[in-house]
Amino acid sequence: MSPDTGLNQVLRKLIRRSFPRLRQRIVTIGWGGGEELLYYMAHADRNMIVVNNWLRGANRRVLEGGIAHELCHIDADLRLGVFQRQLAWERYSQSRWYRMREERSTERRVIELGYGECLLELIRFARRLGYSFGREHGLLYAEALRAEALRASSSRMAVANRY
Ligand SMILES: [Zn+2]
Repeated sequence: MSPDTGLNQVLRKLIRRSFPRLRQRIVTIGWGGGEELLYYMAHADRNMIVVNNWLRGANRRVLEGGIAHELCHIDADLRLGVFQRQLAWERYSQSRWYRMREERSTERRVIELGYGECLLELIRFARRLGYSFGREHGLLYAEALRAEALRASSSRMAVANRY
């Protein structure tokens, strides 16, 4: 994995803004290879996000969408105990159904946190690379679009209700 100041800035900004529980944790980031667009690994108390070299040409919002997704995974996993987390990872690697459920709930969380537009940009960018998103990767484009539209309209309503 090769570290990168730009990636690190995006990571720090996201943690500061939306992931208070991760402020005290060790999270590193860098470019790497493999088949996944992004993934994260954990060793003891260290979490490392790897961003595929394919995304080197991506703009900041695309990166924010992908990194926010990984931070949601880390945040959710840290709420589990060590044993539970191990069990969850085993299920994740063995069950397509479990993986699908995890990925979909992770993306709903990304949208709730306000990164829906970034997520949509990431999906569009990946499509242009020829990378196809299936249900195993999370929400389909149309589903993410609908969820984001819903969030945007309900947050407008929440603002209106304050008056
Ligand atoms: Zn994921």
